[in-house]
Amino acid sequence: MITRKETKKVFVKDVQIGGQNKVVIQSMTNTKTKDITATIKQIKNLELLGCEIVRVAILDFEDAEALKEISKKVNIPIVADIHYNYKLALASILNGADKIRINPGNIGNKKQLKEIVLLAKEKNIPIRIGINSGSLEKSLLIKYGQNNPKALVISAKRIIKYFETLGFFNIVVSLKSSDVLTTIEAYLLASKTIKYPLHIGVTEAGGVFTSSIRSSAGLAPLLYKGIGDTIRISVSAEPEKEIRICKELLRNFNLIDFYPKLISCPTCGRIQWNALPIYEKIEEYLQNVNKNIVVALMGCSVNGLIEGKHADIGFAGTSQGGILFKKGIEIKKVPEDLILTSIIEEIEKF
Ligand code: SF4
Repeated sequence: MITRKETKKVFVKDVQIGGQNKVVIQSMTNTKTKDITATIKQIKNLELLGCEIVRVAILDFEDAEALKEISKKVNIPIVADIHYNYKLALASILNGADKIRINPGNIGNKKQLKEIVLLAKEKNIPIRIGINSGSLEKSLLIKYGQNNPKALVISAKRIIKYFETLGFFNIVVSLKSSDVLTTIEAYLLASKTIKYPLHIGVTEAGGVFTSSIRSSAGLAPLLYKGIGDTIRISVSAEPEKEIRICKELLRNFNLIDFYPKLISCPTCGRIQWNALPIYEKIEEYLQNVNKNIVVALMGCSVNGLIEGKHADIGFAGTSQGGILFKKGIEIKKVPEDLILTSIIEEIEKF
């Protein structure tokens, strides 16, 4: 049983982050934000897949201007991601960003930071303080070196303190590193003293294969300890892929509703039917099934009968095809050529 860490509630438009038994799924577009049509199209795709908040990159004033149009055409809240130019942050807030993400290490001086904070306060939108191991203050780098969890937390707490002196409490915090151990230790440390919601993720985590493993290695220990209020899986691929990995990870911690769980055996020399292509097709098919369903695909009766009987829909292969189970009850024997369609038919009926 996981006990979630208590954090302050922050609202991004109508989406709550923190203070709940839920981890909000985020992603980031990779279109040019000023290409309004392409950006809207990608956001809508992400939304369909289960993305709850989306971040867009603001590189110039044309991108900031595009927020006016984009925010009218999509349903999920938009976070404007700004580096280097504080005026872009101001423009993004004025043009309808529902939240902004800045890295205080590169956004400008205190006076400029103050202008951003006061405008966000006036518009009642949150700011994510995005601390990144690649752009820490020089003094912390000299004292602690690169990829030091303590340095990330100290940097975040300095900025939080400054925001609070300005009467601003609408804060989300991230402490990103591409190093798994630094990520885990930084968030464990932060969760002890930071009351604001934590945006978790391993940054620059690699392609689909690498990121799936690296992100899970970095984030699973946190989720298990109830840490993390919103999540982004960073993948060097189309952002749609991020959502799938994210949902799969959250499913293992019962932190997502309406997402299937697939159990399948690795197969071995006992197998008497062509299982792997069917396993692959069912896995692909389940990605678009929004149901809390457990599907077990087992190659033979050695473990298959028991596992298959415990799942909502279970299948165990035999030399003549296999046996379908529904909630522990055998429904029918299926010939090999009908295995795929029979399993899908039962999932659809569920
Ligand atoms: S269920 Fe059967 S086929 Fe699958 S791994 Fe176990 S023994 Fe092998």
